[in-house]
Amino acid sequence: MEHLLAVARNNELKLKRFGELERLLMTTRVFSQLVMIMLVDFRRYFDLDEVNLVLLDASGDWLNALGVVQAADLAALGLTLVDGEHTWYQRYAEDFRPYLGKYDADIHADCFTKTSLASIALIPLARQGNLYGGLHLASRDPDRFQAGDGTYFLERLASFLLMCLENSQYFDKLERFGLTDALTQVNNRRYFDARLKEAVSHALRHQQPLAAMMFDLDHFKQVNDQHGHQGGDSVLQQAAKLIQDCLRASDSFARYGGEEFVALLPATDTAASVEIAERIRSRIAEHDFILSSTVTLKLTVSIGVAETELDGIDELAAEQNLVHEADAALYRAKQQGRNCVVAA
Ligand code: GH3
Ligand code: MG
Ligand code: MG
Repeated sequence: MEHLLAVARNNELKLKRFGELERLLMTTRVFSQLVMIMLVDFRRYFDLDEVNLVLLDASGDWLNALGVVQAADLAALGLTLVDGEHTWYQRYAEDFRPYLGKYDADIHADCFTKTSLASIALIPLARQGNLYGGLHLASRDPDRFQAGDGTYFLERLASFLLMCLENSQYFDKLERFGLTDALTQVNNRRYFDARLKEAVSHALRHQQPLAAMMFDLDHFKQVNDQHGHQGGDSVLQQAAKLIQDCLRASDSFARYGGEEFVALLPATDTAASVEIAERIRSRIAEHDFILSSTVTLKLTVSIGVAETELDGIDELAAEQNLVHEADAALYRAKQQGRNCVVAA
């Protein structure tokens, strides 16, 4: 009777803790935050010595959602993204049932970074015969996880976690979809407007230069006229890629509309921007735009460059002026005969 009561009390406590964790997971749709909850909060709540999360990522979607920098930060906390088969996979391959029991360094070392562990739980993230990853828990207490222990709570948590993770990916894709230009796959105007606000605000706060570049392909209408709309589309895709490849990861690049593109270069002044713009201009001028196996064509671009004012200006005016001045500089580049860079 005593024993039964103890078990019941223990289960009640577990239920409460798992419930709290589930509620915490429900507070966010952001993938990185879900991972943090599992690697940091979960570990603390349940007083574990190590928690690791492994996600199969053959499509690269998880890595995309995080970005390389954040993925590296989370890797240090215990997130592993696996793009192919992995040895730990074998442990789940048969029936996707959790393993609870002794830690054996010969078998489990690749699931954990610590070595002085005594008992572990390896819980597959699986559904309908598909494996998506695994949640690995470890304790220095040999009695913490034992073969034959109930796994109801842990399995329930794993399927809840999987659902939250998939949800976050779904929302992330939806959001990206709304901010990406369908033809060129670079950011769209909506994305640019949002980034412009952030970048100007950051520049004013830190009194750091911020440059903008406006690009407009020269005589683009002729491409459409001579090679059809499809030819024009293909040129737009190639031009977008060429320009983007010349920019840094910290720059923001977007299709502004039609055959116009725009870039924001944080911590970059006019002189440095003009140099970069000049490089882009000559890259495009030298490029053979491929339309088919037999047809290539030459094309040029005009570029306007401007730098934001930093003194005595409010954010909204700074945003408007920056775009307006880059646009005016672009207009002058057109007037000066195209295929050139003009600074405001
Ligand atoms: P300029 O050197 O003065 O910039 O001349 P332009 O011919 O490039 O300028 P204009 O603005 O007269 O023409 C732009 C053309 O771009 C007209 C439009 O049909 C074409 N265009 C806009 N969006 C797209 C698109 O998504 N695909 C294709 N193929 N053409 C597009
Ligand atoms: Mg135009
Ligand atoms: Mg044009």
